[in-house]
Amino acid sequence: MNVSVIGGGVTGLVTAYKLSKEGHKVTIFESSYFLGGQASVVNLGGYKIERGYHHLFRNDTEIIELIDELNLSNSLKWYKSSVGMYSNKKLYPFSTPKDLLNYKPISILSRFKLGLVSLYLKRQKNWKKYEKVTAQNWMKKHVGNEIYNKVWGPLLKAKFGFFYNKVNMSWFWSKMITRFASRNKKGEEILGYLIHSFDELIEELVKRIEENGGMILLNSKVISINHTSNRVNNIEYVKSNTVNKFDTDLVIATIPNYELKNLINFETDYQKKLDTAEYLGASVFILKLNKRFSKYYWINIIDEDVPFLGLIEHTNLVEKKYYGNEHILYITNYLHYKDDVFSKDKDDLLNEYIDHLKIINPKFNKDWIKNYIYNSVSAAQPLLPVNYSLIKPSFKSPIKNLYVGNTSQIYPEDRGTNYSVKIAGEIVSLIIKEFK
Ligand SMILES: Cc1cc2nc3c(=O)[nH]c(=O)nc-3n(C[C@H](O)[C@H](O)[C@H](O)COP(=O)(O)OP(=O)(O)OC[C@H]3O[C@@H](n4cnc5c(N)ncnc54)[C@H](O)[C@@H]3O)c2cc1C
Repeated sequence: MNVSVIGGGVTGLVTAYKLSKEGHKVTIFESSYFLGGQASVVNLGGYKIERGYHHLFRNDTEIIELIDELNLSNSLKWYKSSVGMYSNKKLYPFSTPKDLLNYKPISILSRFKLGLVSLYLKRQKNWKKYEKVTAQNWMKKHVGNEIYNKVWGPLLKAKFGFFYNKVNMSWFWSKMITRFASRNKKGEEILGYLIHSFDELIEELVKRIEENGGMILLNSKVISINHTSNRVNNIEYVKSNTVNKFDTDLVIATIPNYELKNLINFETDYQKKLDTAEYLGASVFILKLNKRFSKYYWINIIDEDVPFLGLIEHTNLVEKKYYGNEHILYITNYLHYKDDVFSKDKDDLLNEYIDHLKIINPKFNKDWIKNYIYNSVSAAQPLLPVNYSLIKPSFKSPIKNLYVGNTSQIYPEDRGTNYSVKIAGEIVSLIIKEFK
């Protein structure tokens, strides 16, 4: 079949790769000038680094298998992570059970309780009971006000902003499962990284797709999916200011739901389901520093005065020798896509953040910054409400030869490259079954 894949992120590339292996003629349409979507990289003066920090967990089995299939296993390295919490204007280690027991911002009783409730959640298998309740309500009931107000509540607010009190508890449950699954016997978290960046995976997928006869069109924004009698006949896309028509037998759309709505409106219940997911955007600075900012890979900010939610020092996970012995620090924020931050001047925004970096690490100086890059992503995190399993849109749309695969269908797990690989596999299996 002549297959069109809309979107050249991980979901689109893996879908295209798998279908091209089955002998289908695939064409990928990607609106941007680069591939990889949210897992894409930039060149930061001589080396590649993800636009948004990326790592893998031990239980990311689907992507680990794909990396193996593509003969990239030698590049996948596993590192000990380190987590800090910035609370009461102080940095506390928060990597191991021992760190939790020494975590001063909460009482000793709450520390034990936090450990026990986390262990309890890790042992739960039936996530469906958690989707019925918001994370906020579950936490307040089961861990009490101190832990909610000083640990989990601020983390929820930081991650989901205006939506923090609507997100369902199964999201938090799945986060616990993933975090525990990536721990070694000493309770240390182990995270994976492709040593030459996630681009190694993207490039290999591109190579295989092209070897299998596939075609990739960059700077090609799809603007409509045209159908008659419940079948897509063609899609239209804009390249170099020209509208082109492309006849196709099958379409897989891997773009966010709000973008898909601009290309086709299903006018059925299916559309209502697609409309349920809201999205948070991400605003990310990548700083190249000549000094180490802290000893932690990941710092959660539990302080409402600080205008960002996390600091991720990539070179505290992966050796700095891969980055010219310099240090890479991400400053990250998840925000409503209409938030003022997205329209601010980036130098001004960075200056505002620098004042806070100086408070977190009083030795920090602006001169440490050798270079920086700013990125934003509009569909960084889907926001899925209670009982979403009853609403989640199927991969198969009401149009016979149109499939949909995006992060709003990753559930109850948190979105991530592993699950993009997983849903790509599921969509391809459905297609093979339907069209054999
Ligand atoms: C800051 C940040 C940190 C993250 N950290 C991790 C991590 O540590 N580990 C992990 O596994 N995952 C992480 N993720 C999540 C992971 O990157 C995503 O879940 C995954 O890459 C989503 O892939 P996708 O293909 O579904 O979507 P996307 O990557 O969003 O791809 C969709 C593509 O469609 C294109 N497109 C949109 N509209 C059109 C159109 N009309 N026509 C043509 N093309 C179009 C877009 O340009 C884009 O390339 C992170 C994400 C962010 C934002």
